[in-house]
Amino acid sequence: MPAHGSDPFAETEDQQSLRSLAREVAERDLAPMARHWDETEEFPQGSWDAIRKADLFGITIGEQWGGMGMGDIEAAIVLEELGRACVSSAILAQLTFNGPPRAIEHLGTDALRDRWLPMAAAGDALFCIGISETEAGSAVNHMRAKLTVDGPPGPNGQAFRLNAYKNYVTGGHKAKACLVWCRFPGSEGTKGIGAVVVDLDTEGVTLAGTHEKMGLRGTSEAELAFEDVRIEPEDVLLAGDPTNSESFKTLIGHINHERCGNAAMCIGAAQGSLEYAIRYMNDRVVGGKSLAELQGLQWKIADMATELEAARLLMKRALHLAGPHGTPPPLETAMAKSAANLAAKRVCDEAIQLLGGYGFSREYPVERVYRDIRGLCIGAGTVEIQRNFIGANLLRGATPSGDAWKRPAL
Ligand SMILES: Cc1cc2nc3c(=O)[nH]c(=O)nc-3n(C[C@H](O)[C@H](O)[C@H](O)COP(=O)(O)OP(=O)(O)OC[C@H]3O[C@@H](n4cnc5c(N)ncnc54)[C@H](O)[C@@H]3O)c2cc1C
Repeated sequence: MPAHGSDPFAETEDQQSLRSLAREVAERDLAPMARHWDETEEFPQGSWDAIRKADLFGITIGEQWGGMGMGDIEAAIVLEELGRACVSSAILAQLTFNGPPRAIEHLGTDALRDRWLPMAAAGDALFCIGISETEAGSAVNHMRAKLTVDGPPGPNGQAFRLNAYKNYVTGGHKAKACLVWCRFPGSEGTKGIGAVVVDLDTEGVTLAGTHEKMGLRGTSEAELAFEDVRIEPEDVLLAGDPTNSESFKTLIGHINHERCGNAAMCIGAAQGSLEYAIRYMNDRVVGGKSLAELQGLQWKIADMATELEAARLLMKRALHLAGPHGTPPPLETAMAKSAANLAAKRVCDEAIQLLGGYGFSREYPVERVYRDIRGLCIGAGTVEIQRNFIGANLLRGATPSGDAWKRPAL
């Protein structure tokens, strides 16, 4: 037998310990309540408390703000493990790891970091992100949210008033602050789009409603209205310059953290369903034969596992290319996100099929997981938008990392 080389993506000892801790929390505290959060649509407070008690909220936040200063690989490890048990609960960690706190740390001022990051690291507050609008989801550059100048500039800079209506804001009904993408004065198209951080207790912010959904029912998606909300100069995360699209490009690039987190939750959720189906097939006897003995069903397991592993490898590549503190690259991230979304759809759908009628029953977890991952195929940029990006870039001559693409064409 030839010797095997080492796994280039093998986890370090610290990463393995982090995975064990996240799995312990997920299995002990998240999994037993997952059905409850789904059926009642209550905010998963018990999951929040458990993640917080295990000190997991702070893993990606810098040590000077009370966090552990880890990167996207560690975020994905935790999200995979939490997602394996309860995707609604994993999203709470996703919003902290890869949502506004990450943007504030990478792109914000010290004033913003000092105000918000200690809260995020301690798990004292939930954060949400307001990009989508009713007329601007995939076509985010059609957003209407806008800032107008409010009085002359003060010693700290220019203050504004924000008018916006943001749709599908995950956790917007419970969050303390929202990162709002909006137009700065004079903005048109993608030029002049930037972002501000809004304390949701500020006058003029209202929770206009929440969506009734098929899955991810523990974490509501809210509609938030911002009417003449005062934005202090210190609340500006990234100012939009109406002469160029640089801030917009920076914000879009930064979403790659969220896309990798989305992929991790899909992979974790699908892993849970696959493991459940394997256990079920080994236990279930039909007409005197174990399901596990039926070759047609073995092939299903083979395909499910192969697709899932392919997606996991794509995700690991994107995460490793980010390095400990960088941002995952766009092309590899788009491939990882769409592969993870599609693999999760296939795996979770087949898990239901393998359980037969029981798979369709709410007494078994696989139907919930299928409903949950459906939402992840739409959030953070749909599968179609990822594929648009991948195809257009390849046709323009872009190449993903890897030697095969670098060789001259035959
Ligand atoms: C569970 C969940 C959580 C979310 N969380 C947040 C959040 O926290 N913050 C936030 O701001 N938003 C959030 N969203 C909103 C999400 O980003 C949008 O739903 C998504 O970008 C799609 O926009 P849309 O719903 O307006 O669909 P549309 O843009 O109307 O798209 C409809 C369909 O057309 C396809 N389509 C659109 N344009 C193209 C194109 N050019 N080429 C090919 N196909 C195309 C889409 O892929 C989709 O299938 C969330 C959504 C979900 C489901």
